[in-house]
Amino acid sequence: MNWWGGQQCRPRRTDRPLDEAGVVAAVRRAAERGLTVRPLGSGRSDSALPLTNDVHVDCSALTGVAAITSDTVRARAGATVASVQAALAERGRALATLTHAPLATVAGAIATGTHGCGGRIGSLSDQVVGMRFVDGTGRVRKAEDPELDALRTGLGALGVVTEVELRTVAAEEVEAHEEPVVAEEALAVGGPLDAHRFAAVELHLPSGEALLRWAGPVVDREPEPPAGGPVEAIGRVVTRLGHTASAQWSAQRSRPAPRWEGVVTGPPHELLPDPHPVKGGFTEWALPREALAAAIRELGAATATRDREIRRPVEVRTGPAETGWLHPAHGRATAWITVRTHRGDDHGPLFRLVGSVLEGMGGRPHWGGRHDWTAADLAMAYPALPDFLAVRDRLDPDRLFGGDHLEALLGP
Ligand SMILES: Cc1cc2nc3c(=O)[nH]c(=O)nc-3n(C[C@H](O)[C@H](O)[C@H](O)COP(=O)(O)OP(=O)(O)OC[C@H]3O[C@@H](n4cnc5c(N)ncnc54)[C@H](O)[C@@H]3O)c2cc1C
Repeated sequence: MNWWGGQQCRPRRTDRPLDEAGVVAAVRRAAERGLTVRPLGSGRSDSALPLTNDVHVDCSALTGVAAITSDTVRARAGATVASVQAALAERGRALATLTHAPLATVAGAIATGTHGCGGRIGSLSDQVVGMRFVDGTGRVRKAEDPELDALRTGLGALGVVTEVELRTVAAEEVEAHEEPVVAEEALAVGGPLDAHRFAAVELHLPSGEALLRWAGPVVDREPEPPAGGPVEAIGRVVTRLGHTASAQWSAQRSRPAPRWEGVVTGPPHELLPDPHPVKGGFTEWALPREALAAAIRELGAATATRDREIRRPVEVRTGPAETGWLHPAHGRATAWITVRTHRGDDHGPLFRLVGSVLEGMGGRPHWGGRHDWTAADLAMAYPALPDFLAVRDRLDPDRLFGGDHLEALLGP
C-alpha cells in the first residue's frame, strides 16, 4: 500500500536488506526463481511504478549518511531527504533542492525526478554526481557518464540503487513570506516564481485567488511599531500558526491560505515543506515554462465547463531545464502544476481531464503521480528515450526490474 492507501499490491515476497550485500542476494534470488523485482522507497509515489506481485526490495532499512565532503554528501538509498538535510545541517551544508517530500527516500525521490520550488534550482536528480547500484544481473556497479543521465531519473528500471552522492550548498537561513497575489502576474515569465530563490503559488481556479509563498536572503529591517495585539515579525522574531489549528484547517480548505503569520526565518527545509501534508492522490505535469499562464487558464475553463471541482488548491512551481534523459523537465525550463485530491474523492475523471488539458499543452507527467502515459507518449516527448532504452538493455537484459506498469511505459 502506498503512503495514503490509493495504490495497493500483493508482492509474493518482500526483502528488506540491511546492506548492499543483502540487495545483491535479494536480486540474485529473484532472478534464480524467475521473478521480477520492484525497488521500494517510502511509498510516497501515487503512480503504479513501485507496484509488483513478485518481489519488493524495500530499501527503507538502507539508512544513514556514509560521508560528507566539502561539497557533496554520500547517502544510503533509503535515507530520507529530511535525515540527509539534518546530517548536513550539522556540518553547515544543505541540499539545494527543497521538496515537499522530506520523508521520501533519497533513491526513491531521485528515481521519479523529485523537484523543489525554485526556478533556478534543479531537482534532486540534478544534484546527483554519483550512484552505486545493483543491476539486473546482480552485479554492483558505479554509475558513470553518460549513463548517469539515465539513472538520474531511472524509474527503478535500471537497478536497485544502494547509495547516492549529491552536490551540497552552504547552509543558510532565509526569510519566508506569504502574500495574496494577482494570478496572472504571479505566473508570468520573469515574475516572482522565477525571481525568488524559493517560490510556489497556490491557486483556487474558480475564483482566481492566488497566494505566493516565497523565501530569499534574510534582510535586516528596522523594527516596525506593533499594530496592536502581540508583537510579531520584528526582525527575526516570528509567530507561526499553531500546528493543530493549521493541520485541521489545511485538511479542509480548497482555497489558498497562509500557513504562518508575518515573516518567518530559518533554514529553508524547516520552513517551507508543508508540515501537515494531507493524504490523497496527486497528478502533476511539467510544462514548458512559457505555457504556464495559458495552461492555468485552460485548466480553469475545462474544469468549469465539465463541472469538475478541484477541492484542494492547485500548486504551481518552476524549475530549470534538466539533463536526466527521462526527467520531465528534460531540455526545457519548466513549470510544474500539481492537482491533489482528498482520500475518498473519485479522482479518476478529474485527473484524466487535467492530463488531457496539460498534455495538450506540451505537459509531461511527474513519474510519481497519476497519469496514463504509455511508451508511445514517451517516444514523442523524450528525445533521449532511445539512449535510456539502450542503457536498460545493457543493465537489465532479462528485465528483472519488470512489471506491467514499466512495460507499458518503456516497452518489453
Ligand atoms: C506529501 C508528498 C509531497 C511530495 N512533494 C513533492 C515535491 O515537492 N516535488 C516532487 O517532485 N515530488 C513530490 N512528491 C512525490 C514524491 O517525491 C515521489 O513520488 C518520490 O518518488 C517518492 O519517493 P519514495 O521514497 O516514496 O519512493 P517510492 O514511491 O517508494 O518509489 C518511487 C520510485 O522509486 C523507485 N525506487 C525506490 N527506491 C529505489 C532504489 N533504492 N533504487 C532504485 N529505484 C528505487 C521505485 O521503484 C519507484 O519507481 C511528493 C509526494 C508526497 C506524498
